[in-house]
Amino acid sequence: MPLLGCIADDFTGATDLANTLVRGGMSAVQVIGVPDAPLPQADAVVIALKSRTAPVQQAVAESLAACEALLAEGARQIFFKYCSTFDSTDQGNIGPVADALVRRLDCGFALANPAFPTNGRTVYQGHLFVGAQLLNESGMQDHPLTPMRDANLVRVLGRQTDGAVGLVPFATVEQGASAIRRAMTVLKESGRRYAVVDAVTDTHLLAIGEAAEHHALITGGSGVAMGLPANFRRAGLLPERGDAAVLPPMRGHAVVLAGSCSRATLGQIGLARNHVPVLELDALALPDAAALAAQALEWAAGRLGETPLVIAASAPPDRVAALQARLGREAAGALVEQAMAAIAEGLVARGVGRLVVAGGETSGAVVARLGVKALRIGPEIDPGVPWTYAEPVGLHLALKSGNFGGRDFFLKAFGA
Ligand code: ADP
Repeated sequence: MPLLGCIADDFTGATDLANTLVRGGMSAVQVIGVPDAPLPQADAVVIALKSRTAPVQQAVAESLAACEALLAEGARQIFFKYCSTFDSTDQGNIGPVADALVRRLDCGFALANPAFPTNGRTVYQGHLFVGAQLLNESGMQDHPLTPMRDANLVRVLGRQTDGAVGLVPFATVEQGASAIRRAMTVLKESGRRYAVVDAVTDTHLLAIGEAAEHHALITGGSGVAMGLPANFRRAGLLPERGDAAVLPPMRGHAVVLAGSCSRATLGQIGLARNHVPVLELDALALPDAAALAAQALEWAAGRLGETPLVIAASAPPDRVAALQARLGREAAGALVEQAMAAIAEGLVARGVGRLVVAGGETSGAVVARLGVKALRIGPEIDPGVPWTYAEPVGLHLALKSGNFGGRDFFLKAFGA
């Protein structure tokens, strides 16, 4: 029975939240999409949707279906996770999804807090900052799908809901959990459906988490989830200290698949070249997914063994631009993603048990091809990137957004 049931509006956000909870001592599983089977066992289950920019109706329907699945398994508290930059438009989807969850849980009230001080996201007097900039001057005002042109979250959320939105200001948050709890009660009793809560430091987030101990619904970024494991511990539902990041023992051959062309990934490939065999696929010379996959699998066949291998489609910007000019941007991306997915499938069939995938879109393609339904979250390799155990495939998988990780990430992942 999960203690905490989470609904995340995108895939990497879900991993981020699950990882935060594991570091707090809760075991966590990330489920991909609305589940069609019983949920895996864990202290926290995070259902990863792709609802951030989906049509409003669809986002609401999928979020409610996820909520239903979590409640059916006995989840004691529901967490609606969105981006720390509050990615949304005046139509949604944060407000409409939260409204539907408030109604379903019949709780009448929820706090809203996207702050993530470690990554520079703070909320002061209801205004969201990215580093030293207001949200609407941070570059987010030009986001292609969710341009954020107002930093005042009380107004932003207010435009997305027919409920009233209040604020628990910095001065109250500074006073700690009891003061925050009292302020939220006053707002709820005065008819507010939501309270945006200021938070500038992790200490604030921990106090907010404590104040929300008995809330049926919490909405926010992964930061505000930091305070939740302590609530379950205080209630005697979670052991005092235990390692929540335990995965089945690692086995099988080890491979890195890199489909990201981000600077960090190019650097990681560069360093790996000095230590392990690296195959650089040339999608420009061989623009055919099946042929690229065949080439990679043939190369790997004689080399799978003690040392990890790296297979990279990654290329510097001029080569990427050349392939895009020839095929079009979408087709170029899809070609490489399909090649990497086919390689992953072939590698697993050949006994690979530990796979690192570099690139967000690339990871999505690999996970879909392998039929992964859930990821059990294990120990972190680098901040924000944990080892996971993919079910029902039975594979250790690390999914890395292109720009994440230090230069030695690939070597570190395999302890090489
Ligand atoms: P990141 O996390 O760095 O954004 P993604 O995997 O999300 O990485 O995106 C990288 C995109 O670039 C994918 O669509 C991938 O297929 C594509 N790609 C990878 N290698 C090449 C290449 N050599 N030429 C063109 N596109 C490429």
